[in-house]
Amino acid sequence: MDIAVIGSNMVDLITYLERMPEEGETLEAPEFEMGCGGKGANQAVAASRLGSDILMVTKVGNDLFGQNTIENFKANGVRIEGVEVGTKTSGAAPIFVDPNAKNRIIIIQGANSELVPETLENHRSRIKQAKLIVLQLEIPLETVYHAIQMGEELGIPVLLNPAPANPELDIAYVKKCTYFAPNESELGILTGMPVKTVDEIKSAAVSLVHKGVQNLIVTMGDKGVLWMNAEKEVFIEAEKVKAVDTTGAGDSFIGCFAHFVTKGSPVEDALQQANRYAAQAVQRRGTQTSYPTLEEFRAN
Ligand code: ADP
Repeated sequence: MDIAVIGSNMVDLITYLERMPEEGETLEAPEFEMGCGGKGANQAVAASRLGSDILMVTKVGNDLFGQNTIENFKANGVRIEGVEVGTKTSGAAPIFVDPNAKNRIIIIQGANSELVPETLENHRSRIKQAKLIVLQLEIPLETVYHAIQMGEELGIPVLLNPAPANPELDIAYVKKCTYFAPNESELGILTGMPVKTVDEIKSAAVSLVHKGVQNLIVTMGDKGVLWMNAEKEVFIEAEKVKAVDTTGAGDSFIGCFAHFVTKGSPVEDALQQANRYAAQAVQRRGTQTSYPTLEEFRAN
């Protein structure tokens, strides 16, 4: 087993509307799509499609969506021994998209809120076999801290993607992570500093490295990615592509980086690969559906 992804799963319920309904109004929508999502699941699927052996530790809901999520993990080659069925409904994200591609999103945590420290303890012997633990913030913060602690005890490096941003995230735990990978807006919220330009992003990054963050990786959409630690600073420009749908770009980047770094690639090479992989993903519609397989990735 290569990577333990400890995180969320969600079902995306996407309704394409002519316009948003008014209060009390019933409106017909021309199109509806359903897809498997959740940051944890997305990252697991991306790394698995590239050929990593992934253990997913997550809680699905006690409903049809939960069963569908399990089937989706199986179809993508993700191990499901760490997938438990909770008592709540599945995590869900009703998304409303208007003709101008403006969206309104509601997140229901559902069973993801039941992924507690004890759940991780149920799977300690499996997690122990991983070369890397990958975490995000769509599960309770105490579970994230427990996973970081477990990584430290077991001598396994941890990659924390602090998404969605949570200003309460404790820097003492962040410092224990080998890789800390926010996007630019998460970096802004965590530091309280401006992040509009690359120079501003660099200043905010320096402030975190000064606080003791080991390897800071900042994804910056179509600007690219910045890697900074106490010794060096590397900036990788984004590929020049025509983006069709950037939903889940960050998750594809994290999944791909985790894949290459656990295969033994130096950090800079793994970042180059992830930058290329995410650029391919943004050229296709959807979230997991846009993630290339290893064959597709090599061919492009
Ligand atoms: P998030 O989905 O978390 O907001 P980003 O928007 O920072 O993540 O994107 C993650 C990575 O995906 C970027 O660092 C870059 O490598 C790639 N990427 C995102 N948008 C584009 C784009 N328009 N063109 C090329 N690459 C992109």
